[in-house]
Amino acid sequence: MALKPLPFDEALIRELTRTYPTPFYIYDERGIRNRARELSAAFAWCDGFREFFAVKATPNPHILHILHEEGCGADCSSLPELVLCERVGIRGEEIMFTSNDTPAREYVKAHQLGAILNLDDITHIDFVEELVGVPDLLSFRYNPGPLREGNRIIGRPEEAKYGLTREQLFEGYARLKRMGVQRFGLHTMVVSNELNADFFIETARMLFELAVELAERLEIRLEFVNLGGGIGIPYRPEEKPVDLRYVGSGVERLYGELIRPAGLHPLKVFMENGRVITGPFGYLVTQAIHEKHIYKDYVGVDACMANLMRPGMYGAYHHITVLGKEDAPHDTKVDVVGSLCENNDKFAVDRWLPKIERGDILVIHDVGAHGHAMGFQYNGKLRSAELLLREDGTVEQIRRAETLDDYFATLDFSPFQP
Ligand SMILES: *Cc1c(COP(=O)(O)O)cnc(C)c1O
Repeated sequence: MALKPLPFDEALIRELTRTYPTPFYIYDERGIRNRARELSAAFAWCDGFREFFAVKATPNPHILHILHEEGCGADCSSLPELVLCERVGIRGEEIMFTSNDTPAREYVKAHQLGAILNLDDITHIDFVEELVGVPDLLSFRYNPGPLREGNRIIGRPEEAKYGLTREQLFEGYARLKRMGVQRFGLHTMVVSNELNADFFIETARMLFELAVELAERLEIRLEFVNLGGGIGIPYRPEEKPVDLRYVGSGVERLYGELIRPAGLHPLKVFMENGRVITGPFGYLVTQAIHEKHIYKDYVGVDACMANLMRPGMYGAYHHITVLGKEDAPHDTKVDVVGSLCENNDKFAVDRWLPKIERGDILVIHDVGAHGHAMGFQYNGKLRSAELLLREDGTVEQIRRAETLDDYFATLDFSPFQP
């Protein structure tokens, strides 16, 4: 049976449950810092390389602060995400605003903060100009359509709502130039949770070739290309992580082949990953509260899909460790379920696990990105606390659990008072 390592043991978790009732999320600061360093080391050859952490993956100021300390910027796509960055002290061109179907006030706020505006459509050129004038720097999101394969989560590029077509891209840059924009960027994001490292190198090739073509056809000199996010993580124990050094050196080789000979050096390379940075370093801790045997065998836990959507939404696999039973035979086949009145509220289906008893603590792995953030309150379920395991071994609460008052905060009960 495959094991996934944990940065904590059962004793620590039992101790924590005395202060913080399950379910809760816990993040591993050391893991996050090391991963951010690994990525920047892989691109150390590139002057000005920056990872803009995708805020939507883990929108917690303490996590953003840690990543900011590691040199990361932030990739935002909404007003609250922009304000989150502002309040953590992430400002100016440390913010990439990659939104789509963007409301006017969000562009205004992003521009106020000095963020890099990454436009999702050609019509947004005029939209932005009317709102904030002609920015000094603008970027476009490119959708290669049938020229590129996508993958399962994000879908095929020609079916995806994002970005400009190839023709629009050239038309768009020509317009920007006529309007007096001085600095240009180019972005794409074509996959999500992709484990094939070569895919990211091919994305770099696509953008480098466009950089060359833009220089030739329009005499536009790009300042950066943004390869997007989407680096996958090994959710299943038998999967292999993406070798970031391999990606970095593959992109470096293409830079040498395409960008330098065209006289386009220096060109900055950016990424905007979420999942690979925090995903493996977050854990959902939950307790078994029931077992049930009908046509199948079930273990009921105190977390539900309101705490973690991915299994219900994508059928995603999340590894589960039963604390203290790591070495026990995994000889019972169960569905691990939450309490939502939805039959897809299952963390695992037909999973071989050790025999689980009431009170056992289950750790659901790889939830550090797109985990807590996707939480919701359907069925009157409240979002859990988030804890941070510091590098010195101490634990801090970085978001409290929601309370009934939070749930009722947007409702007006005054007509019903006696
Ligand atoms: C979600 C998203 C990301 C981050 O994706 P990951 O799979 O978490 O790396 C980056 N850029 C954009 C535009 C996104 O929508």
